[in-house]
Amino acid sequence: MSERKYWRPEFEEILGTERMRDIQLERLRKRVGELFEHAGYFRCRMEARGVHGPEDIKTLEDWPRALAPFTKADYRALMEECAHDVYRFLDATLPVPLSELVTMAATSGTTGEPQPYAFTRVDLDELWGEYLQRGYWRAGVRPGDRVVQAFALSMFVAGVPGLQCSRDNGTMVIPVGAEGGVARILKTAKFFRGNVLTCTPSLAEHMIERAPEILGAPISSLGIKALMCGGEPGAGIPEVRHRIESAYGAKLYDLGAGFGVSCDHLEYQGMHWIADDLAIYELVDPTTHEPLAMEDGAEGEAVFTSLLGGGLGQTRITLGDIHRVTVSPCPCGATGFRYRIVGRVDDMLKVKGVIVYPAAIDAVVAGFIPRVTGEFRILLDEPPPRVVPPLKLRIERGAETADSAIKELETEIVRAMKDRLKFTPEIHWLAPNELERSDHKTRFIEIKGK
Ligand SMILES: [Zn+2]
Repeated sequence: MSERKYWRPEFEEILGTERMRDIQLERLRKRVGELFEHAGYFRCRMEARGVHGPEDIKTLEDWPRALAPFTKADYRALMEECAHDVYRFLDATLPVPLSELVTMAATSGTTGEPQPYAFTRVDLDELWGEYLQRGYWRAGVRPGDRVVQAFALSMFVAGVPGLQCSRDNGTMVIPVGAEGGVARILKTAKFFRGNVLTCTPSLAEHMIERAPEILGAPISSLGIKALMCGGEPGAGIPEVRHRIESAYGAKLYDLGAGFGVSCDHLEYQGMHWIADDLAIYELVDPTTHEPLAMEDGAEGEAVFTSLLGGGLGQTRITLGDIHRVTVSPCPCGATGFRYRIVGRVDDMLKVKGVIVYPAAIDAVVAGFIPRVTGEFRILLDEPPPRVVPPLKLRIERGAETADSAIKELETEIVRAMKDRLKFTPEIHWLAPNELERSDHKTRFIEIKGK
C-alpha cells in the first residue's frame, strides 16, 4: 500500500501557490474582523494607520501596511500599561474573548518577565495540533509509534500544549518532561519501548553520555527511530546533528521558530514552512521593520500572524529571530519554502554598516575544529550593535595545534570571515579551555571592562 506523502495533502500540496494566497487572504480578513471586535490594542494601532476593518485589507500586501510588527519592546510597554496584569494584557491583544482560553503556558522568562502563551481549543486542535501532526508525518512518525515527550512540560507549545496536540494522529504519547531528569527519561523510554523522542538537542546529547551508566547499554539500544528536537539550534549544526544521529541510530528533525520542520535530505536544508494556511510568514528589515521580498538568500527578522484560533495572539509578532529563507524547491522534493535561524536581533553587530551575527561567526569558527576548540568570544569596546573595526575575536586554539601552525590558521580564518561574513576580524589567540564553559546558551559577547 502506498501511503500519502503529507498529513494534510489538500493544504500541503499547494503551499506557496496562488490558490494558497487566496486562502490566506480570506482567513486574514476574518482575523482582522476578530481583532477589531476583541483586541482593542491592535484596533487602535490599525486605526492609526487608516485601517477601519477587514474591508481595508484587499490584498496580502495590505497587511504589513495595516499594522506595525509587535516587538518585544511593544510587549514590555503594553505590559507596563496594563500594570503587569497578564489578563488585562491578553484582553487587549487576543482576537478572542478570554473565556475561550483553555490552557496557559509561558516562556521561561530567563531574561525578564515571562511572556504568556494562551491557548483556545482551536489553537490546540486546529493550529498547533495540526502543525505538529504535519511535522511528525513528514518525519515518518506513524500511528502506533510511541513518542517519549521530554521537553519541559511547562514549555510553550512543546510542553503540555504539545501533549494535548498529539492526541489525534494515532501515536501513543509518553510524557516524562525534562523536569523528570535524565535517568527517569531514559528508564521510561526503555520500559515503554518509546521509538520517537522529543526534546531539546542539548538534552539529546546529554542522554548519549548518561545512557551507559543508567541503562547499562549505549543510547542506540533504545531503538529510537526519530528525534523531534527544538527550542534551540542543534539540528542545523552539522557536527551536532551527526553526533546525535549516529549515537541514536536515528534521524534528527528540528521543529519550531514558527510552523516549520526540517526534512531528511542528507545535508541540512533548513526547516520547511508547512502551514501557509495556518499562519502568514513575513521577513522584515530588523532595523526599519519594512517588509523584505521573499527570495533566495533573503535575511531578516521573522514576523508571524496566525490565521486560526487566536489564544496565542500571534498578530504580526516578532520573536527576535533572524531567518534566512530559500524559496526555490528543496532537493528533498517536499513543499514549503525553507528558513534557517541565523541569529537573534538582540545579538546583531554592525561593523562598518555590515550586519554580523555571533551565530554566524560561531559557524565559521566551528568549521576549523579540531585546529580550534570551537570556543571563542567577541570582544567589544562598547555595547552592541555598533562595532568600531576591526572586530576583535578571542579564539581558543586546538589542543594539538602547534605554535608554528597558528599564523597560517589565522590567515585562513580571516579569509573565511571575509569571504562569508564580509568583515576582517582581529584575532587574539587563547590556550585550549581558557574560556569559561557554560551548560546554558553560550554568550559570545564580552564587553571591555564588564
Ligand atoms: Zn527539504
